[in-house]
Amino acid sequence: MAPDCQLAIAAQRVLEAQAPMKVLAAEDNPVFQSMLRAMLTKWGYEAVIARDGNEAWQALEADDGPRLAVLDWMMPGMDGVEVCRRVRAVPRESYVYLILLTARTESQDLVEGMEAGADDYLTKPFEAHELRVRLRAGRRVLDLQQQLLAAQEALREQATHDCLTGLLNHGAILETLHKELARSSREQQPIAVLMADLDRFKSINDTHGHQGGDAALREAARRMKSAIRRYDALGRYGGEEFLFVLPGCQGADAFTQAERIREAVAAEPFMAGNRAFPVTCSIGLSYRTVPAAEEADVLVREADMALYRAKDLGRNQVTMAAVMA
Ligand code: GH3
Ligand code: MG
Ligand code: MG
Ligand code: MG
Repeated sequence: MAPDCQLAIAAQRVLEAQAPMKVLAAEDNPVFQSMLRAMLTKWGYEAVIARDGNEAWQALEADDGPRLAVLDWMMPGMDGVEVCRRVRAVPRESYVYLILLTARTESQDLVEGMEAGADDYLTKPFEAHELRVRLRAGRRVLDLQQQLLAAQEALREQATHDCLTGLLNHGAILETLHKELARSSREQQPIAVLMADLDRFKSINDTHGHQGGDAALREAARRMKSAIRRYDALGRYGGEEFLFVLPGCQGADAFTQAERIREAVAAEPFMAGNRAFPVTCSIGLSYRTVPAAEEADVLVREADMALYRAKDLGRNQVTMAAVMA
């Protein structure tokens, strides 16, 4: 799928997930409270009512709390302006759009409210349809921000993942290795690195065409992924080479884990149309019982050398680097 198409779909999902949108109505006067509730419900919003500033603040702070709020200025405890100030004082990813309701009409009051962080205001008494269009304007701002966040997330995904296999890409798996190695070193836990390479892959391309080769790469990646534990990491290191990071793993355990991966690839034949063909991989393994944070390059080099040995010894096997642990 084209990348911009993926972005549009991701953005659309975010919008769909939003309906109906929660709107906080913070109002201490019971008559206004029920008026606001009735209006919001009629306009298709989910009304969340707060009776004072503290309740409003709590509702806005809650996970999955409303991101659109109508706040009365005068309320017991914390007033609407103070709620605005507090909301703006906390950095957050999702924007909260704040509309102040005020009986005050002095320009100085308006300035104070907006400077406290309100996006808009309405003077009481207000026309229902005026609140309705101001809520819509707020919603447009929030929708735009959600689209931007979704696009940002999709770009992050693209930047860190290989588009053929969906695995982490070269840069991302190396970054994961550095992070996991730093953690293992700090916690004095072992760590293992595997370099896997598909055997005689060139002849698979030659026999089944480049598209058949691509499909085999995807299937090999799927099998490898299904053979690892939740906290292991796997990335496409290069063409038909895969790098694994196995935290907490060493020696015989790491070898067993590598064997499981090799077996997952080799166990069943691959298919191209209705033709079945075998695919195998060779795996080089290196590990440290007590790793140092700066050993990422060395571990990868050792795994790579062990991989060459596995190839020399006849392929479809796991070879361990000379133990330096
Ligand atoms: P060995 O057992 O020694 O690893 O043999 P090999 O044929 O796998 O090794 P070699 O490095 O000579 O060839 C790797 C092949 O992988 C060559 C290249 O065309 C193919 N390849 C690399 N990336 C891709 C890809 O994204 N798609 C396809 N279809 N083929 C790829
Ligand atoms: Mg009031
Ligand atoms: Mg190969
Ligand atoms: Mg290779």
